[in-house]
Amino acid sequence: MQIIDGKKISQEIKDELKAKVEMMKANGDKIPCLAVIQVGNDPASSVYVGNKKKACEYIGIGSKSYELPEETSQDELLSLIDALNNDDEITGILVQLPVPKHIDEDTIIRRISPNKDVDGFHPMSVGALLIGEDGFLSCTPAGVIQLLKRSGVEIAGKECVVIGRSNIVGKPMSVLLLRENGTVTICHSRTKNLKEVCKRADILVVAIGKPKMITSEYVKEGACVIDVGIHRMENGKLCGDVDFEDVAEHCSFITPVPGGVGPMTIAMLMNNCLKNI
Ligand code: NAD
Repeated sequence: MQIIDGKKISQEIKDELKAKVEMMKANGDKIPCLAVIQVGNDPASSVYVGNKKKACEYIGIGSKSYELPEETSQDELLSLIDALNNDDEITGILVQLPVPKHIDEDTIIRRISPNKDVDGFHPMSVGALLIGEDGFLSCTPAGVIQLLKRSGVEIAGKECVVIGRSNIVGKPMSVLLLRENGTVTICHSRTKNLKEVCKRADILVVAIGKPKMITSEYVKEGACVIDVGIHRMENGKLCGDVDFEDVAEHCSFITPVPGGVGPMTIAMLMNNCLKNI
């Protein structure tokens, strides 16, 4: 059994990107600049935003942050997005989700120019993914593909089962596995015989949002298990959607939580920031 080290792989990717930015600087190329917008001061969002800014600094690109008060109106937020869409210095725009309840998330996502949609959530980006065109990929699922490839896990021809069908993880994940020529099954809350379906998987990607739900009963001997879930337990420690202790010994590869999929999301965001520049 091999534990896939997401921290190490994400560091490799960031170092590759840093080298690329150094080359761009040496060539006198335009250097990307990411605009990060946060509305309100949800502590978890503040941590994510802080980490994204640090990653920009690490790879050597610019970042500008816009910390707006909780009571910011939707129109005010849309005006800021319009201004950033028209600002040539800004090459990527990210609105940290979730936004406060009085703001409609879909309206915000659609307003970001598809050319600056580094989160890959705009319908244009999602559509491009579905029909196999080049575009911004949703960061977490793109990170999972990198974890598999860089760990030497073959995807082509494999039975891939994704649990979860959210727009940010499950759906793009299944399309990316399909793009890599996996044979893909998507499971969700209405799936019957979940255990039996999961037991078919050579590669099982779990994005349910339920702490430690996936036990060894769901896993085929020798499968590769990727855990996207992240939860804080009562004792303060983090865990995933997979019961790691129970499942690990049955796997060929498994990602831990923390230190598996989590660090990959920001690495892939940085990768998106260097795209189309
Ligand atoms: P979500 O709640 O939007 O979607 C969960 C999905 O799981 C739904 O499609 C639902 O149909 C399915 N589901 C729920 N209960 C089920 C059940 N009993 N059986 C089968 N399917 C079931 O969640 P999400 O946004 O996709 O996130 C999933 C997990 O991944 C969460 O724990 C989240 O915190 C984590 N996450 C991590 C990262 C990261 O960077 N590592 C990024 C995004 C999400």
